[in-house]
Amino acid sequence: MEQSDVLVIGAGVAGLSTAVQLAARGIQVSVIDRGALGSGATSKASGLLGQLRGSVAASHMMQESLATLLALEAETGRKVFTQSGSLRVAQNEARAEELEQSLQMAELAGIPAERISIAEASERVPLMRSEDLVAAAYFPSDGYVSPPDVASLYVAAGETRGVRFFPGRPVDSLVFEGGRLIGCRSGGQEWRAPVVVNAAGPWAHQIAGMGGDPLPCAGVGHCYLTVWPEPRIDPLTASLRDRENRLYARPTREGAMHIGIYEPRPVLFDLPSLADRFKMADLGIERFTESIELLMELAHRRFPILSSGAPITYTAGVMAWSPDGHPLCGPSEQVAGLYHCAGFCGHGVMTSAAVGLLMADLICEGKWRHDPVELTVGRFRDRDDVQDRAFVEHACLHAYATCYGVVSEDHPGR
Ligand SMILES: Cc1cc2nc3c(=O)[nH]c(=O)nc-3n(C[C@H](O)[C@H](O)[C@H](O)COP(=O)(O)OP(=O)(O)OC[C@H]3O[C@@H](n4cnc5c(N)ncnc54)[C@H](O)[C@@H]3O)c2cc1C
Repeated sequence: MEQSDVLVIGAGVAGLSTAVQLAARGIQVSVIDRGALGSGATSKASGLLGQLRGSVAASHMMQESLATLLALEAETGRKVFTQSGSLRVAQNEARAEELEQSLQMAELAGIPAERISIAEASERVPLMRSEDLVAAAYFPSDGYVSPPDVASLYVAAGETRGVRFFPGRPVDSLVFEGGRLIGCRSGGQEWRAPVVVNAAGPWAHQIAGMGGDPLPCAGVGHCYLTVWPEPRIDPLTASLRDRENRLYARPTREGAMHIGIYEPRPVLFDLPSLADRFKMADLGIERFTESIELLMELAHRRFPILSSGAPITYTAGVMAWSPDGHPLCGPSEQVAGLYHCAGFCGHGVMTSAAVGLLMADLICEGKWRHDPVELTVGRFRDRDDVQDRAFVEHACLHAYATCYGVVSEDHPGR
């Protein structure tokens, strides 16, 4: 039997970062994972890191995330962040208005941002078609990371602080004593701790369910392409968000480019029903035919290079979505001793460094580091509809499909 102060279930970026920050406070932490460390959604993520979110509080959290990541870089000597800047573009009046609001939000949050000309936007992202653009904004302090490198960075920082890692141990049940959660079991072996953190990503619903807690989140499939142009592109090319085309893009350090979309009809993945057979690493693109067709169509609109014959590969994974597109953090409403750290949707990598701090504050001091309104799992406390699994799945798919706003009625991505 293994004993620690805190047991973290799930060694993705969220669980690993939480472990690092707890250990930094002198807490003894064990991290258990069904597979290899970082082998969940984290292993498939693209890695855009943009700090501007829909509220000042969420944007501040993202700024804190980047600052924390840079501090961990300095501590471990591992460089994971590339500051390439990011670009947002608009091709109609409604999106231009949205861009203006983003600039105002950036100003309020203290994130460097500037309105730039379409000519300058084209210089920032040279492969981009720009004739249809009416406005652009540039965020110089944004960039990108390689998510597996971020996971390795957390593991290195965790090892230095004495975190114990247990990969290849699928948790099959939670263990209770006198009605209180005291740990978990995997293959007959027990891990005990007075505090258990559910950081199981798209499996978080399953872990919560082991304690009778109907955590409202669902696994939603997501896929992006990587194009390898010749000559290779500059790794300092700005990343791009073209919300009307539902599209994001970023360069890689190797000179390729990721392009992904948030499609209107995403694929639902019920990971618990796939049980032990499912490995994120093995997920192919078979279930993504419709998504990829639309991805290619919308990506072509912005990046003509896709017709050049340059090699293209695809990456598919599953993200944990919540019904409103915001994280599900904090103490379980049903199970004493259980904390959730899940539902990070399409921004779990970029937010992870701040999530670790948030969870450590919550567990050690019981205080919220950031406004809990869009973070706490308790916001669903009085919602009867989240008891209905079909409703939750539908709401999660909808949150995914509309995360870049609602596109115009005549748009092919509608
Ligand atoms: C294709 C794709 C592109 C993405 N792009 C971006 C991006 O550009 N930027 C960004 O910020 N985010 C992006 N994301 C989202 C990001 O990947 C997630 O938000 C983030 O990785 C979530 O981290 P996590 O630690 O919560 O979950 P995970 O990384 O999934 O970790 C959960 C862990 O729990 C473990 N686990 C599950 N069940 C059990 C069990 N029973 N017992 C033990 N362990 C268990 C799993 O093995 C896994 O390692 C993308 C996701 C995908 C799929």
